[in-house]
Amino acid sequence: MFAAACHFFLRITGWPLKTAGIFCLCFFLAPACADAARVADSPAGELKRFLQTLDNLNARCGWTDVSAAGIAWEHHRTTRNRRPLIFARFGGGAGNCILFLGGVHGDERPTVYLMLKLARYLHEHPEVVKDHCIVIAPLVNPDGYFAAPPTRVNAAGVDLNRNFPTRDWRRDAHRQWRTKGRKNPRYYPGATAGSEPETLFQTALIKRFEPQKILSVHSPLNFFDYDGPSSDLDSFEQWMETISREANHPLKKFGYYPGSLGNYAGHERSIFMLTLELSTSDPKQGPGYFRQFLPAFLKFIQLPVAGVPPFTRLVKHGK
Ligand SMILES: [Zn+2]
Repeated sequence: MFAAACHFFLRITGWPLKTAGIFCLCFFLAPACADAARVADSPAGELKRFLQTLDNLNARCGWTDVSAAGIAWEHHRTTRNRRPLIFARFGGGAGNCILFLGGVHGDERPTVYLMLKLARYLHEHPEVVKDHCIVIAPLVNPDGYFAAPPTRVNAAGVDLNRNFPTRDWRRDAHRQWRTKGRKNPRYYPGATAGSEPETLFQTALIKRFEPQKILSVHSPLNFFDYDGPSSDLDSFEQWMETISREANHPLKKFGYYPGSLGNYAGHERSIFMLTLELSTSDPKQGPGYFRQFLPAFLKFIQLPVAGVPPFTRLVKHGK
């Protein structure tokens, strides 16, 4: 077919063989190339390519047991560099969701390993999650994660954990960054609150799934921190003390900042908000961290919470 068409072109145009051949090639291949480009640029193609580059980068970190393939990732938003902002949902429960976040700061590599590994664990152990609703966003800041070297901030140089639209943002975010933060670019809160696609991604997850509990993983400050409904913070603190002992990881009340998730979710929306700060950002520690903290993750999933924010409380055993 291709040869016959080229021959026909050759005859009717009287062009030299080479010119007619090139013209033919372009004529026939252009639609095929356009189709291929359309597939590659479609949301599914974009996601597939992204997951492959994520697996490749993770393999270079020495992680070969956290392939992102096979998980039903969703994405509806992209970063400034057009990388998909992915999340997956596990379990059959309707309400009472728990949200896990990793890779909020792109240079905190093992946090991404932990969340991908948790996603794989839940995928392979559906019995753990059957009555629960669990949402995992393992890599909130892919632009920072893929930068060379990786960066805490996103592609616009914004610290995503200072960019949430909290009530004190307009009054305090820039003032605190200038005074307490000495204008350290690693903590820049952005030009306006909620200016970043990755921040809006997280607020959209909170709006859509209405989680009663959130766990966000960071490094390398080495503690558990928590925020939550002031009416029941004591119960949460008692529960946290047990978890801290069992995981052999310190508990510290770190407080929250203008534009931080602890402020937005824990303080302002009364969601039980747990921050896990790993002790290093060393990728090699990933598997050890997973062994150390999986029991705490599973207990946080099982922790019963009653009511809807802002009137949530822990359900105590025997009551
Ligand atoms: Zn962090």
